Amino acid sequence: MTKSVLILPGDGIGPEITAEAVKILNKLVETDGLDISMEEDLVGGAAYDVHGVPLADATMEKAHQADAVLLGAVGGYKWESLDISVRPEKGLLRLRKEMGLFANLRPAVLYPQLASASTLKPEIVAGLDILIVRELTGGIYFGQPRGIRVLDNGERQGYNTYVYSESEVKRIAHVAFQAAMKRNKKLTSVDKANVLEVTEMWREVVEEVAKEYPEVEVKHMYVDNAAMQLVLNPKQFDVMVTGNMFGDILSDEASMLTGSIGMLASASLDENNKGMYEPSHGSAPDIAGQNKANPLATILSAAMMLRYSLGREDLAVKIEEAISKVLDQGLRTGDIWSEGCTQVTCSEMGDAVVAAL
Ligand code: NAD
Repeated sequence: MTKSVLILPGDGIGPEITAEAVKILNKLVETDGLDISMEEDLVGGAAYDVHGVPLADATMEKAHQADAVLLGAVGGYKWESLDISVRPEKGLLRLRKEMGLFANLRPAVLYPQLASASTLKPEIVAGLDILIVRELTGGIYFGQPRGIRVLDNGERQGYNTYVYSESEVKRIAHVAFQAAMKRNKKLTSVDKANVLEVTEMWREVVEEVAKEYPEVEVKHMYVDNAAMQLVLNPKQFDVMVTGNMFGDILSDEASMLTGSIGMLASASLDENNKGMYEPSHGSAPDIAGQNKANPLATILSAAMMLRYSLGREDLAVKIEEAISKVLDQGLRTGDIWSEGCTQVTCSEMGDAVVAAL
């Protein structure tokens, strides 16, 4: 059955990078029997300019109807002074919230050809391939009660609540185990079970879910140790699963091990593996409209979409291998360029991936 994909290019470099991802998807439709239909719409500042809101209700409805959403990026100087309720980012937040995207998957992959881009020694990071699965809609970022109150002695006190229910932990654990099954079958669950009861329960629930995936080797690690191990020996990790706050911090740490923001994809999934896919970087207004941006993070996000929402693991692998070939050829956009390589534009990079496919 034909699957439908909603394309939301957004602002800044968004339209340039998504155009390259669409080029790749069209090629796979032509040559590999990929059965999808694509429709494009507005999000972020681009939607505000036309509709007065960063995400029109009709676009939200299309996102609900689609099998997957591929998004570029939102934001830019032009919309920075708008009222917070209609800023471009609100469009993204609405999509995440109303689509019920509770699982955020962020790969930190360092192609061996780009090892010199990392601030760590090449032998520590070359070939790095970690997937961080972060719970996105619960934990301390959303727990109630929260606020800042004034105590009887007049002193202010800030407070938040770190809370997870068993079902929330179970569903994110299943996403992580299923991802591990598609990879090297190693899962590290990150918690602070020695101090926080909520993560003591997290650990117990992960252990219970683990019984359903006997092939996956499970380890538990305290978050402080995980932060240290990511820098010391990052290649020990395959899939990591953790709560919202720890995941926020560790996924940024892991992505920076690779040193190349233009290469990092992400996926946010709901209960049925329907998802929204987007590069981890922003709209890069400083280089927008110049055909300079690196489209590979968006093309890799499209690969994740094929893997997780469209049931075409084979084509996801095909895209990843094509990108590796292009890097072998020494082709680089400005952000990942180094001595001896050939600098290409955003569209030339897309063309090179199509040729490698
Ligand atoms: P940014 O990621 O847009 O840019 C940071 C730096 O990285 C810039 O120098 C930029 O040129 C470069 N860069 C980013 N992506 C690149 C690519 N694909 N190829 C080459 N270079 C690339 O972050 P920022 O500058 O902090 O934010 C710019 C705008 O993006 C802001 O309006 C911000 O709110 C928005 N933003 C959006 C998202 C999103 O849509 N998910 C995420 C982060 C920031």
